[in-house]
Amino acid sequence: MANVQYYNRVFPCGEDQTVLDVLIENGQDIPYSCKMGVCVTCIMQLIEGGVPQQSQVGLRSSLVAKGHFLPCVCRPTSDIQVGVIDQQDMFGPAAVAEIEHLSPDICRVFLEPTTPLYYRAGQFLNLRREDGLVRSYSLASVPNLDDRLEFHIKRLARSEMSNWILDEMRPGDHLGIQGPLGNCFYDPGRADQEMLLIGNGTGLAPLIGIVRDALASGHTGSINLFHGSRTRDGLYLADELRALQAAHGNFHYTPCISQDEAPAGFRHGRADDMAFFEQPELTGWRVFLCGFPPMVYSGQNRSIEAGAEVSDIYTDPYELKDLRSKSRPNDDE
Ligand SMILES: Cc1cc2nc3c(=O)[nH]c(=O)nc-3n(C[C@H](O)[C@H](O)[C@H](O)COP(=O)(O)OP(=O)(O)OC[C@H]3O[C@@H](n4cnc5c(N)ncnc54)[C@H](O)[C@@H]3O)c2cc1C
Repeated sequence: MANVQYYNRVFPCGEDQTVLDVLIENGQDIPYSCKMGVCVTCIMQLIEGGVPQQSQVGLRSSLVAKGHFLPCVCRPTSDIQVGVIDQQDMFGPAAVAEIEHLSPDICRVFLEPTTPLYYRAGQFLNLRREDGLVRSYSLASVPNLDDRLEFHIKRLARSEMSNWILDEMRPGDHLGIQGPLGNCFYDPGRADQEMLLIGNGTGLAPLIGIVRDALASGHTGSINLFHGSRTRDGLYLADELRALQAAHGNFHYTPCISQDEAPAGFRHGRADDMAFFEQPELTGWRVFLCGFPPMVYSGQNRSIEAGAEVSDIYTDPYELKDLRSKSRPNDDE
């Protein structure tokens, strides 16, 4: 069993435990969100000892060189000493430029960073509210086409950041931004490769950026976007996507409604089922899967079964903070 030293306290860490679990169990106040090695919210500093390489996968080499690692996926095999990172180092300032409400529960937010941000369409940023609350949001903008950073935010019942953004955040407010993060983006090589993109809800955000980036880069292979939602309201930006389809012969957009009846121009059923039914053979294809984690993970397996190479599959699972499993005071729902 390894020990984790955190400032002047030492905690034993069981073989299956992560550093983050041990610190939280012992009452330490560490910011975290997805606990899956995706969102980078919990990033920490290694002060002494070594951490498994897996806990640094996806971090920029400059951060790895400084000894930064992700405690949520770190199962140490020997004693280590760790500390927090000065979060000021990690976040840059950005101002809220505009908030556009697309439905009662979805909005589009435009941010202006104080210093230019170099990113790829489809990556995500961590946004930090003034009180320190941090959540991850995917970029819907494209660096060469858009001046501002664009995000699509969906309200979750009685949750913190999304309700604050939809109801209280105002143009002129300031947020901290960390990133860009993630490997789900368009690579301009192999312009004739067929592409399948599946997203549900605001899983559309990175996909719309990837589609626009691919079209602007002169992608010649077909680009097939399936966007799913339980209701018509969730299929936001349908008109913009139809206009994009009309302007580009190789872009095909299929909006899918899984719960309510589908009006003309929409398909009834789940976007992933529709996509894999229509494209059962994916040998040589590039696949993007974004949004609801179970759809993303099952979509990965279905893509491989249909012949796609693992290296051609890009994912952005929207892992939520693990609050649903905890009891909530006055929870009468
Ligand atoms: C890489 C990545 C990209 C993402 N991109 C996007 C994006 O583009 N757009 C987007 O909308 N989201 C995105 N997300 C999700 C986003 O980061 C947030 O998780 C989401 O907005 C919810 O945050 P919140 O603070 O509103 O909810 P939280 O307050 O974190 O609540 C999370 C869930 O727990 C429930 N809950 C809250 N408190 C309790 C409690 N005490 N007991 C029981 N249940 C509780 C809530 O109802 C909610 O369902 C992304 C996530 C990741 C990891």
